[in-house]
Amino acid sequence: MRIGVVVFTRDLRVRDHPALVAACEADHVVPLFVIDDALVAGSHAGANRLQFLVDSLADLDASLRQRGAALVVRRGTWIDEVARVVAECGADVVHLSDDVSGFARTRLDALLAGGTRQGFAVVTHPGVTVVSPGTLLTGSGTAYQMFSPFYRRWIAAVWRDPVSTPEHLSLPDGIDPGRLPTLAMLTDVVPSPELIVGGENAARARLRAWTVDGLAGYAEDHDAIAADATSRCSPYLHFGCLSPLDIATRLRDRIGGAAFVRQLCWRDFFHQLLAARPELAWQDLRARGTPSGTVDDGFAAWCAGQTGYPLVDAGMRQLHIEGFMHNRVRMVVASFLTKDLDVAWQHGAAHFMKVLVDGDIANNQLNWQWVAGTGTDTNPHRVFNPTRQSERFDPDGSYIRRYVTELADLDAAMIHDPPDGERARRGYVPKLVDHAEAVADYRARLAPNSAN
Ligand SMILES: Cc1cc2nc3c(=O)[nH]c(=O)nc-3n(C[C@H](O)[C@H](O)[C@H](O)COP(=O)(O)OP(=O)(O)OC[C@H]3O[C@@H](n4cnc5c(N)ncnc54)[C@H](O)[C@@H]3O)c2cc1C
Repeated sequence: MRIGVVVFTRDLRVRDHPALVAACEADHVVPLFVIDDALVAGSHAGANRLQFLVDSLADLDASLRQRGAALVVRRGTWIDEVARVVAECGADVVHLSDDVSGFARTRLDALLAGGTRQGFAVVTHPGVTVVSPGTLLTGSGTAYQMFSPFYRRWIAAVWRDPVSTPEHLSLPDGIDPGRLPTLAMLTDVVPSPELIVGGENAARARLRAWTVDGLAGYAEDHDAIAADATSRCSPYLHFGCLSPLDIATRLRDRIGGAAFVRQLCWRDFFHQLLAARPELAWQDLRARGTPSGTVDDGFAAWCAGQTGYPLVDAGMRQLHIEGFMHNRVRMVVASFLTKDLDVAWQHGAAHFMKVLVDGDIANNQLNWQWVAGTGTDTNPHRVFNPTRQSERFDPDGSYIRRYVTELADLDAAMIHDPPDGERARRGYVPKLVDHAEAVADYRARLAPNSAN
């Protein structure tokens, strides 16, 4: 009798799951999730993502139980726990989805070494991206560093077909599923009050509703900040509650689908780059000198949404209330930190990773690099003017009013840059820096390198 183990990581779904389907070729399957102490204890796992993980594991367990099995949960050192379960149930093969970060690679290498020692095979499968990293390479055989040529290859490539969902699963006798985690078992930090609910079923419901209401207008509306017209699927994609391939395949030919699927390509783009260059999680792709700003009161004011720039403050407060921020506002706040305050992007990226429910090492770090001008942006000198961005993408100020409640009664003419008297009257902070002067200082620092 053959027993296969499928180790879930950030692929917490039963639909279009190649590793799960492969494990089902055995007579019995052990669907395993290990709560990795290195991740839970480390600074990477914020309370928002832990809560989302708790929801997603419960939902996955319910789906597996409907199919006759259950999620087997263990906690400890990831490699030790996987090897222990393999030995306990006498499995000869472990299947898992291939992933891109340095952390995931290190764990996979440890598992491969464990397999060699203990005599089990380790097989990796696609599932985290639409096109597997490393499939599309430049003429010189390297990962792409420019989005447009990558996109042309990606959209023309032959994608794999989504796999069907197993209907019946059978656990081997005697295996104890263990206990699903609660948030209290993982952290005593309180998550954001308006956090989205995790899990594959919640993901499918959201995507279904958004496909009806939002997809057709996506190309026109995705930058309208107050309209909140994007899919909000990013946490579900990060945790793999949704298959990016399944979504892209189903939506690409629908009205609005092309623009939406292009965004999924950005996700693949950053994943293939990080897979090839894991050090980019913390190192500049293109060095731009040493920023002059430090992690001081200005950084604290930025984190707290107290910079005196209403759009920046609204974004940072949305982040704390929801664990989420609109993409355009992420660009504005990141530009403010790295250009107006001239603080190294790594500090902003680390703060985002602590709070974002969709915090994703490839998407987060490489978007931060893009905005900071150290990454893949072909126009690295770009600076976002927070007042102009606010006037353009939140013209009547509704987004600002939602989060910067001090300004809730200000009219659209004043809300983007309230006069000093109006700020003082409402208890809203003065501007931390003058945008024009701050950007001039930033550009002066770069001047010797501006030909780069
Ligand atoms: C400084 C900064 C940090 C970011 N950090 C993250 C992060 O940690 N995790 C994350 O998933 N996204 C991150 N993004 C990208 C983007 O802001 C979010 O993916 C998007 O806002 C999520 O909202 P949505 O699901 O409604 O997006 P939609 O507009 O509905 O897009 C659909 C999907 O496409 C992908 N996508 C969209 N835009 C991008 C992009 N620029 N780069 C990569 N993938 C994209 C996401 O998976 C998203 O869910 C960051 C962007 C910036 C500028």
